[in-house]
Amino acid sequence: MTTTTAIPKCPQCGSEFAYEDAGLLICPECAHEWSPLSAEESAETERIVRDANGNVLADGDTVTLVKDLKVKGSSLVIKVGTKAKNIRIIEGDHDIDCKIDGVGAMQLKSEFVKKA
Ligand SMILES: [Zn+2]
Repeated sequence: MTTTTAIPKCPQCGSEFAYEDAGLLICPECAHEWSPLSAEESAETERIVRDANGNVLADGDTVTLVKDLKVKGSSLVIKVGTKAKNIRIIEGDHDIDCKIDGVGAMQLKSEFVKKA
């Protein structure tokens, strides 16, 4: 073991200037954050996120909600059928990052959406 580990290139934009901070790798060029562990995992098996119907979702897709979702920390409910445009697949429990008109930036679970 050495104290210096090679920082991988940013998986999103290919920048070589990513740095490590609190166990996360951060790209200064596109602000992408990822964990070294998942970067290794994704190198072996590509992460596939599926919607409620089993369709594969990709960055830039438009999805609609298949159930009402409460917005954390507010009384707002996003109704079933609401569209989320230009989604981004992310790591984590909530695996979709998107913006919803009238609500703003949201993170959703892929099991609660379907491809539009
Ligand atoms: Zn980047």
